[in-house]
Amino acid sequence: MKRVLVTGGSGFLGSHLCERLLDAGNEVLCVDNFFTGRRANIHALLDRKNFELMRHDVTFPLYVEVDEIYNLACPASPIHYQFDPVQTTKTSVIGAINMLGLARRTKAKIFQASTSEVYGDPEVHPQVEGYWGRVNPIGIRSCYDEGKRCAETLFMDYHRQHHMKVKIARIFNTYGPKMALDDGRVVSNFIVQALRNEPITIYGEGLQTRSFCHVDDLISGFLALMGSGDDVIGPVNLGNPGEFTILELAETIIALTGSRSALIRRPLPQDDPTQRQPDITLARDLLDWQPEIALEEGLTLTIPYFEQMLTEAMAS
Ligand code: NAD
Ligand code: UDP
Ligand code: UDP
Repeated sequence: MKRVLVTGGSGFLGSHLCERLLDAGNEVLCVDNFFTGRRANIHALLDRKNFELMRHDVTFPLYVEVDEIYNLACPASPIHYQFDPVQTTKTSVIGAINMLGLARRTKAKIFQASTSEVYGDPEVHPQVEGYWGRVNPIGIRSCYDEGKRCAETLFMDYHRQHHMKVKIARIFNTYGPKMALDDGRVVSNFIVQALRNEPITIYGEGLQTRSFCHVDDLISGFLALMGSGDDVIGPVNLGNPGEFTILELAETIIALTGSRSALIRRPLPQDDPTQRQPDITLARDLLDWQPEIALEEGLTLTIPYFEQMLTEAMAS
């Protein structure tokens, strides 16, 4: 039985990962400061004998004994990572140093949840791992983008300098159950607005694109990368190559929910990337992984969760 630490384990992706790791027979230590994470996400895991929850901020050192670390701690939605941008950079950079220090002492293998944001507003399309990106270092998204870029640097330097086993995943937009109602990212915003028959907020013209991956596919990719040979370090793109404009996403969600919502325009946030699509050749070749759940199917799997959340929110 492996002892696995998941930082950010009560967040959207982290809570799915904790559950999958428990199901596979591991001991799981979930570490989270509950900035965007929620107890409800891991409520069902609290009774399981191999699960332990610890409230802790990864910007402070952590001394525990583990075999593997998944470092997911960091707010991921623009409204949340821009709320306290200095804390966001600290979480990515100091958090990475602490978790790498912990991995170094315990000789644990360590996985970093990096992001497609390292490509910024890309001129290479679809994005391949060899592309260095086009990131504004001083804009409102920089705390997140540059923090994640610096974390990748630290992972590579700990690997080269201290010969540690590291794995870096560049995650593209992912959606699914356990996202918070007020998460602020596009899929949850649109589903919640559609279910309430409220206007759907299109930022800018809605012609910018994103490629959306269902969470179950993504977590399979995490496990495949962590389980791969020590020579597989990454970064490796993990995402669904199906690319859609934001308008197409809105129309699909309106159709699937049978909503009466209209579309309204809101200003396009500064530095919002115009296009994004993963090239997943590397993941296919190295990990034998590819997503199986297309957007419409994934949304159909996700909408009932939000219906349930809205019912509970109205009852309380
Ligand atoms: P999320 O906001 O739901 O989860 C992040 C978790 O980290 C939360 O539980 C939060 O409380 C915790 N956290 C934040 N700062 C912390 C700190 N200083 N110490 C301890 N815990 C802290 O977001 P998510 O979508 O689950 O994202 C998880 C990870 O995956 C993040 O690192 C994010 O950057 C990365 N990622 C996600 C996506 C996506 O589409 N979901 C895309 C690219 C990268
Ligand atoms: N660290 C930690 N847990 C550990 C070991 C280290 O949180 O079990 C932190 C500690 O704050 C340290 C950082 O990780 O400063 C980096 O550790 P490393 O061994 O790389 O360098 P050090 O700063 O100890 O020389
Ligand atoms: N977006 C939108 N309406 C919303 C939320 C987001 O049009 O209510 C747009 C946003 O401007 C961006 C895309 O949807 O172009 C994806 O935004 P999200 O915050 O989900 O992720 P990211 O920009 O980090 O990829």
